[in-house]
Amino acid sequence: MVIKKIKRGSVLLLLVFLLFACEQPGGAKQYPFNYSDAIMGTSFTIKVSVLPVSLTTDELKLKIKNLLDKLNGQMSTYQQDSELSLLNKNQSTQWIPVSVALYSVLKEAKDISDLSQGAFDITVGPLVNLWGFGPAQMSYKAPGDKLIQQQLTKIGYYHLLLDDKKWQVKKEITDLYIDLSAIAKGYAVDQVGLLLEKLGIVDYMVEIGGELRLKGKNIVNQPWRIAIEKPTAGKRSIEKVLPLTDLSMATSGDYRNFFEQDGVRYSHTIDPRSGKPISHKLASITILSDTTMKADALATALMVLGPEQGFKMAEEKGIAALFIIKKDDMFVEKATSSFINTLR
Ligand code: ADP
Ligand code: MG
Repeated sequence: MVIKKIKRGSVLLLLVFLLFACEQPGGAKQYPFNYSDAIMGTSFTIKVSVLPVSLTTDELKLKIKNLLDKLNGQMSTYQQDSELSLLNKNQSTQWIPVSVALYSVLKEAKDISDLSQGAFDITVGPLVNLWGFGPAQMSYKAPGDKLIQQQLTKIGYYHLLLDDKKWQVKKEITDLYIDLSAIAKGYAVDQVGLLLEKLGIVDYMVEIGGELRLKGKNIVNQPWRIAIEKPTAGKRSIEKVLPLTDLSMATSGDYRNFFEQDGVRYSHTIDPRSGKPISHKLASITILSDTTMKADALATALMVLGPEQGFKMAEEKGIAALFIIKKDDMFVEKATSSFINTLR
């Protein structure tokens, strides 16, 4: 048996590199604020074109770091004492009050689950773990059908009830385990963006793990130039560069985090209907939206639905999406009308 695990980090660093490459033609002008570090098991980059005089770089870094640490403490499944980890460990089937931040993400997750008829499902965690992509690091090996069926009985977003009035949640089954990896990064990007805006910053780029929010202009007073990667594992190149501003973008792909066993690629995106990693010809999907949280979740939802069903849904619901589909040794791009119109 041949097992190959491709690590995510190196490719994400590449993405950041590509962003740099696109954003600094000639490297002439330096951003007055350009902050990169690691959080949520991935990297982030924040750039500001014009920094208010009242704010120092160190002050702004600290404010951002504090915010990201706080969000991580609310939504990480890797942090044992995070609000989410405690909720996951809580065996109660009574109503449990949660923070506004956690509630907002759970609510959006439910909306995207409804929209995608369960293709997006934050309760898919036990299967993510079973396939070796979660915090419970297991060996990268395809599990047997019996184990998959067992874990499937613990899954279903509709088992998590939400009370909009009191910001509380209720698990219908004690085993329910929530994994916000496919949406929390997007929420964090939006929150950093709002923080910057509150501080009077109007020109910025916020990127966490490849999910982005762009506002105003870049350092050379142009729309931000954002690269979409070619969805190839190992090889690193740009598929295309988009001029973007005043919107959010998220990408999901099967080429960044997966393992291979006996020549079959197992992606970290799980189809909650089968309990197995997705297997179709969709290599990557990029979403443009008004919030990064929505873009992030929609990217995973459409990744699960695949090139046909996903494209159909995206067109019907007016989602701005670019599908990059494998065809023989090549990639074919397919954009929804809304994607084309957004770039006009
Ligand atoms: P990508 O950039 O490929 O979207 P993300 O990290 O944003 O990657 O999301 C993938 C993660 O989402 C997985 O590692 C897993 O934790 C979780 N996940 C996998 N399948 C689903 C699903 N069907 N619905 C919601 N979350 C999922
Ligand atoms: Mg994502």
